[in-house]
Amino acid sequence: MAINRRDLLIASGGALTAAMAGRALAQEAQGQPLMGNPTLPLPPQQRMGWAVVGLGSFAVGQLMPAFGDANRSRLTALVSGNPEKLARLADTYGVEHTYSYDDYDSIVDNPDIDCVQIALPVGLHAEYTIRALEAGKHVLCEKPMASTSAECEAMIAAARKAGKVLGVGYRVHFEPTNQAALAMIRGEDIGPLRHIRAEHGFQADPENWPPHRWRLEKQLAGGGSMYDIGIYGINTSLMMLEGDAPMSISAVYAYPRDDARFREVEGGVDWRITMRSGAVVSGSSSYCYAPYHSKQTYIGAKSSLRMDPATTYYENALWHEHGGRETQIPAGAPYTQFAGQVDAFSEAARAGRPHATPGEMGYRDIRLIEMAYRSADQGGAPVSLEGI
Ligand code: NAD
Repeated sequence: MAINRRDLLIASGGALTAAMAGRALAQEAQGQPLMGNPTLPLPPQQRMGWAVVGLGSFAVGQLMPAFGDANRSRLTALVSGNPEKLARLADTYGVEHTYSYDDYDSIVDNPDIDCVQIALPVGLHAEYTIRALEAGKHVLCEKPMASTSAECEAMIAAARKAGKVLGVGYRVHFEPTNQAALAMIRGEDIGPLRHIRAEHGFQADPENWPPHRWRLEKQLAGGGSMYDIGIYGINTSLMMLEGDAPMSISAVYAYPRDDARFREVEGGVDWRITMRSGAVVSGSSSYCYAPYHSKQTYIGAKSSLRMDPATTYYENALWHEHGGRETQIPAGAPYTQFAGQVDAFSEAARAGRPHATPGEMGYRDIRLIEMAYRSADQGGAPVSLEGI
């Protein structure tokens, strides 16, 4: 099926996305489907309609532009407490429906909304997810899934009751460099994984970057660095260890205790998970690292993989370390992960089958972090995870 430029523009909205449509057309003309999103484009009226809730830095910077590269999804509604921002972004993206948080529940009456993406601070995820499910919509909730595992359980129960699909926005599962790493781990060259090392962190800067402010408030953030950035190490490592299961976790806090940023949430954790296979995953998570750290190392019995950076939006890189040499492995453009994720969710929702990164996965990760905190509170003794 040929891409129809007009359809793409209508689907994704206006002049801003003309460049994206052009990029998709150029790739199609060269016979190169978008990596991470190999589906053929559907006409707009056949695509799943999406509402984005919370128009903050991530929604505006990454999620909304992704609809320009999507083939199965279109942006049909925006939800925000800021009328000026709503009007401006609706105009820019050609979005027909807008809602305030007060009239959010009336999405129930809008057949143009099939799926809802929650991009609010973590402490609001459970409430807005459950309200969307009760309105009969499928929900893709940003990571981390919620403030507590009890909230995650309530979200999963609400999805079951509504008969709707609930996913968590673990975009890395749709990122071509990580998909290339997973394909190599599934193959013959790496051998069984013996150790995974995961380092993720950045310098929290609430003075100069407003989105970091709520991340330091427990009620809105749920937890500290483990919730926001350490979760990439846990989730991505467990993605690569498919078929295995975590058996215990131990952790210690690692951050300057006199730092005023960390009055409510932790500023850093060093953690270690022992897997059923005997493999060990060790990682660190921090709001005190400079520069930005996003590193994964997969040490196998035959050879190893190194990713630096590993889980960023645009710049991931993969090296195969073998026989004393290091070879860079080519993969597709990381930015395609956003469109790949939204289209995969659209297809899961349309078919009524679980998304690749379901609510149960989000629950598992919050449980793991809760147990890491429990271990750290007890001075680092391992906590059993059996049954998680
Ligand atoms: P942000 O602060 O930039 O955006 C939050 C939005 O929520 C703002 O528009 C704000 O106005 C709105 N909001 C509504 N009620 C609020 C309240 N009571 N307090 C504060 N803000 C309120 O944050 P962000 O970085 O865009 O993060 C939003 C979500 O996206 C979080 O869940 C975060 O973990 C997630 N996120 C995911 C990724 C990823 O790569 N998947 C990256 C960044 C953020």
